Amino acid sequence: ATPVAMLASIGAAARRGLLIKGGKYLEELARADVLLVDKTGTLTLGRPQITDVVPLNNLPAAEILRLAASAERYSEHPLAEAVRAAAAAQGLSLLEPQTFTPIPGLGVQAQVNGHQVVVGSPRLAPEAQNLPALQQLQASGKTLLLVVVDGQAVGILAAADTLRPEVPQALAQLKALGIEQVELLTGDNPQTAARLAEELGVRFRANLLPEDKIRIVKEYQRQGHRVVMIGDGVNDAPALAQANVGIAMGAAGTDVALEAAHLALMREDWTLVPEAFRLARHTMGVVL
Ligand code: ADP
Ligand code: MG
Repeated sequence: ATPVAMLASIGAAARRGLLIKGGKYLEELARADVLLVDKTGTLTLGRPQITDVVPLNNLPAAEILRLAASAERYSEHPLAEAVRAAAAAQGLSLLEPQTFTPIPGLGVQAQVNGHQVVVGSPRLAPEAQNLPALQQLQASGKTLLLVVVDGQAVGILAAADTLRPEVPQALAQLKALGIEQVELLTGDNPQTAARLAEELGVRFRANLLPEDKIRIVKEYQRQGHRVVMIGDGVNDAPALAQANVGIAMGAAGTDVALEAAHLALMREDWTLVPEAFRLARHTMGVVL
């Protein structure tokens, strides 16, 4: 394609809600053959709801929720918002954390009312993996958060998220475009990931940290694949930057993801994804 044709395409794309940071990415997109997809906030709406609060010892559910929401007070993670919303719905007032440290891809750690509070993936407390309550909830396919106070697991929060309704059709269109290799990459637990992956007919890898996502992108690239990665979160940014084409889901996504990506969807709308592929191929005159 000529530079003029590329510019015209970038302009046309922008009018449809696709922001492309350069003609180079149209070319990469036209030839891409692997699509890697983040789960939370990308395949799902990213507005999880807390469905269960399960006490593990004598700390009451409301107190578990209050401590967890206070620890999550300054986290931007969708799960943190869910925890705060659940606390608000019960009319619980939050405490001001004295310290707050995000643990990327795992959770948060905060000092609340003189207590060390950790909220996040059950992987943060390996000894908790065998709790019957945890295993039972895990089978439900929900995302589980462990609440640990001063080193002791005091409760489990379960969260459920919703698949974006337009995803199945968008994936079917991508398949028709020859994008057969689609893989779901997530920091969430394998049960939740498996359930969604099965519903969508794609492969998955779970329990991933941000550095694992970037390693997987590189793995495909070493095998000679051109990789498109779609994500929304801070934890996706390194992988988005490493991909041949990193796509940020929605202009409302995290700034870090937007900055790292090469292409941004200005609406949170999966129908824009096959459209981007079609436009790129049309521009580059790629016929498959
Ligand atoms: P995904 O890859 O699906 O977008 P993330 O990497 O953002 O998921 O999160 C992976 C896991 O880390 C979550 O399922 C959760 O267990 C935990 N986690 C991350 N951030 C938080 C947080 N702020 N509060 C609670 N749990 C968190
Ligand atoms: Mg995400």
